[in-house]
Amino acid sequence: MQIDIVTIFPDFFRGPLDHGIIRRAREGGLVKIEIHDLRAFTRDRHRTVDDRPFGGGEGMVLKPEPIFECVESLNIAPRNQRGASRQSVVLLSAQGTRFDQKLASELSELDRIVLICGRYEGVDERVGTYLADREISIGDYVLSGGELGAAVIVDAVTRLIPGALGNEASTRQESFFAGPELGGDSAGEGARPTQVRPDSTCGSGGLLDYPHYTRPADFRGMKVPEVLVNGNHEEIKRWRRKSAIEKTSVNRPDLLDRVKLSEEDKELLEKIEAVKD
Ligand code: SAM
Repeated sequence: MQIDIVTIFPDFFRGPLDHGIIRRAREGGLVKIEIHDLRAFTRDRHRTVDDRPFGGGEGMVLKPEPIFECVESLNIAPRNQRGASRQSVVLLSAQGTRFDQKLASELSELDRIVLICGRYEGVDERVGTYLADREISIGDYVLSGGELGAAVIVDAVTRLIPGALGNEASTRQESFFAGPELGGDSAGEGARPTQVRPDSTCGSGGLLDYPHYTRPADFRGMKVPEVLVNGNHEEIKRWRRKSAIEKTSVNRPDLLDRVKLSEEDKELLEKIEAVKD
């Protein structure tokens, strides 16, 4: 996969994309990331990328010309052929579709993604209407620029590319994944609909992830749950499912509507809800 990032702050990406899984995926040739300085596509001596808004009002707006020219220089398919070419041009915008694991999974299937980072009061609307084929928001808050959002998308998407993680089963047990093994809808939330490995201890099934512990088993008197150290894999699996349901019910009850629960899960949930009330 190739990801191109269009920004007025290319140095911003020194660091966030140079560590851990992203660095390894880049070095291993799974993902190629190129940063494009929008100012290189200006024609005046001040390298102007912004201008005042028509109609008046606060702040400055990123001009369309450098953004169109930059994206056009990347040999991206025309807007109406992007789906067939497995390409997408994304405008980062607080007004966009909210980014989630399902969208990350959808993007991870593409061959090429261009991420356009806005700044100031935003980007000339013609970029969203005629150049980008989707607008994505990383959450219901306003950031100063699209760069953090672009880094978030690159991270979430790259780790879903087959081979990016050492252990392929780990995406399947993470929060929000709902593969087929636990009654989740493989076409819905989460990563690719592949079979869960037989040695996988659990799949999240669209729930939040279960709690993780490592050594020491007793840290300042705070003990790891006994069930995790006794080596009974069936009990561990049941405990993890129960803990994931509990955590989801407390922190993200909205997710429970989309999870297929067994009769045992439902009984457990009723007990948790009763305590909550
Ligand atoms: N005037 C805009 C509004 O109210 O929606 C906010 C502009 S914001 C200060 C500047 C740029 O930051 C945007 O053009 C966008 O690229 C980026 N941005 C801000 N919030 C974002 C979010 N939640 N998700 C993705 N990008 C965001």
